[in-house]
Amino acid sequence: MSEFPVVPTLGFAVRNIFCIGRNYSEHAKELNNPVPAQPVVFLKPTSSISYSGEEILIPTQVGRVDHELELVLAIGRNSRNVTREAALSCIAGYGLGIDVTARELQEKAKAKALPWTLAKGLDTFAFLGEFFPAEKCPDPSRLTFQLTVNGIPKQSGRASEMIFDIPALIVFLSSVFTLNAGDLVFTGTPAGVGPLESGDCLEGVLGREGEAPLVGLVANVRKV
Ligand code: MG
Repeated sequence: MSEFPVVPTLGFAVRNIFCIGRNYSEHAKELNNPVPAQPVVFLKPTSSISYSGEEILIPTQVGRVDHELELVLAIGRNSRNVTREAALSCIAGYGLGIDVTARELQEKAKAKALPWTLAKGLDTFAFLGEFFPAEKCPDPSRLTFQLTVNGIPKQSGRASEMIFDIPALIVFLSSVFTLNAGDLVFTGTPAGVGPLESGDCLEGVLGREGEAPLVGLVANVRKV
C-alpha cells in the first residue's frame, strides 16, 4: 500500500500537486486579475485529494466556494530544466480535476498579499477525475473539457487557449522545481467559475476536440 493517494486509471501515486492560476485570459478578466507575465504557481496538500464519485465537502464557515474545472497533467518521470522539445515526454497522462476554491478566503488573502493555501487546500479541494495515458493524445493542444452543474453547462475549456501552453508550463516548473514521477499539475481554469451549493452534482468530460470524451468526473457537493 502506497503512502500516497493513487490516481484512478493510471495507478499513479500522487506526490506534489502544482496548480497554475490565471492561465486563460477570459477567466483572469472575470475575476478582475491582470494577465500574468509568467505562470502563477501555488500548491495543494495531498490531504486535499478526493476522487470522482466522492463528495466535495464545503465547511459552512468559509463562505462562497467555487468550482474550477481544469486539465491536469500527471508527471511520469523525474525532470529538471526540461526543454520545450522534451516537455511532453515528461507527461504520463492527462486527466480532469476541480481546483475547488474558497473564493472569499482567496479574496481576503489576495487583499493582504498572503498565500492562497487556506483557500485552496481544504479537504476534498483537489478533486480528481479519471486520467488516460499520454500516448492516446500526442498533441494535447487538441484537448477540450466541459463541466455541467446539475446538467447545466458552466465551463468549457480548450488547451489551445491557455496563456502558457502545456510545454511552457513544464519548462517553467522544471526550471524552478525538480518535477517527480507522481506529481500533478492543475493547468488553470477557463471562464465560467461559479459557486457550489449543497446537493449540486458536477459532471466533467475531457477528450480530443470533436471526438467522444476519453474520461470523466462526477462530484457531489455537501456542506458540512
Ligand atoms: Mg484554478
